[in-house]
Amino acid sequence: MRGMSAQPSPCQPEAVAPAFGPAPRRITRQVRIGKVAVGGDGPVVVQSMTNTDTADVNATAKQVAELWRAGSELVRVTVNNPESAAAVPRIVDKLAMMGVEVPIIGDFHYNGHQLLAAEPACAEVLAKYRINPGNVGFGKKKDTQFAQLIEFACRYGKPVRIGANWGSLDQALAARLMDENHTRAEPWDAARVLREALILSALDSAERAVELGLPRERIVLSAKVSGVQELIAVYRDLARRSDFALHLGLTEAGIGSKGIVASCAALGVLLQEGIGDTIRISLTPDPGASRTQEVIVAQELLQTMGLRAFTPMVTACPGCGRTTSEFFQELAKTVQEHVRAKMPEWKISHPGAENLTLAVMGCVVNGPGESRHANIGISLPGTGEAPAAPVFIDGEKAVTLRGENIAQEFVAIVDDYVAKTYAARG
Ligand code: SF4
Repeated sequence: MRGMSAQPSPCQPEAVAPAFGPAPRRITRQVRIGKVAVGGDGPVVVQSMTNTDTADVNATAKQVAELWRAGSELVRVTVNNPESAAAVPRIVDKLAMMGVEVPIIGDFHYNGHQLLAAEPACAEVLAKYRINPGNVGFGKKKDTQFAQLIEFACRYGKPVRIGANWGSLDQALAARLMDENHTRAEPWDAARVLREALILSALDSAERAVELGLPRERIVLSAKVSGVQELIAVYRDLARRSDFALHLGLTEAGIGSKGIVASCAALGVLLQEGIGDTIRISLTPDPGASRTQEVIVAQELLQTMGLRAFTPMVTACPGCGRTTSEFFQELAKTVQEHVRAKMPEWKISHPGAENLTLAVMGCVVNGPGESRHANIGISLPGTGEAPAAPVFIDGEKAVTLRGENIAQEFVAIVDDYVAKTYAARG
């Protein structure tokens, strides 16, 4: 068992990929963020970030609650000015009154040392501080301001994420590495030098924090870029060169399907290699759309890779010319939305229901076969087939549904299965 007391070697061997499934998780130092453990032998943790004005207590608390209800296990808020720093304790109080128990992380850039000094209550209630080594201070002030931030973390007993970012790379460090590169017998290309600058910015800052007194078990590292291949290269290197818990995320992933695909491509490769202790999917929401999509994508990435289970998953065929009505698409959507809506209740009343597998299939070609692989599956009639929908439960044909109420009857079968299969918690 890996745990809080694990003292892994800083030089980690390459994980050996098994013939099937992900490589074992790399051993990292476990960090406690409020009640949530990140790293060590804990599960990969899902986190997200608000996009409200943090100074707006009501709007921010409402969005934090929404993200938490969607499944975010940590939520980060921007702390960028005195008003937002002053609002943080009120947000945390409001969340407690709403029954929302999620650690709140403060995101600091440029002036974090001043804000934490001016608002001790903010420093106290935050569960973690995020510091960007690329903009913690400039010139001679950089070291002093970084030290002040670490001093606050030590004084208040908080963990810190040292989060380097391609978009705010430490320019002095990058320039030094570029100069040194010219003296190499075989100079690296510029992109490799910049990747090294990003990695060194995170690693050197972490070592500096340790020298200043912050325990290694209170440091999480990240080094985010916006390109898939660059992110994979950077994190492979980070994982090889340190044993700090790693926060994965493709920064500025983008909008819509592009953001989802790019994030999942990059994080999927790393998670498969056993790299990553907490993830955030940085999606640009559609105007007016819910922020929770990034949480759902993170959960679905982990669940479809077999790393964690959050909510029953629906397998559905894409449909083709053999099923010309939209009924099966509507049923697949209804069932997925139903189980997602029920999961917060099932999590308490019927733990284990998140492992339930469902199939909604469009016709007889793959319908019965795929339905038999799921706990509960339904094979709808394709065009020209008899208007009957056999339902399979744990591989056996259990009932055939007909008529107008197939959707309601199928959902009732799902609810009944959950009630009978996953022991009710008294
Ligand atoms: S199961 Fe039937 S409807 Fe669905 S994609 Fe396959 S052939 Fe088409």
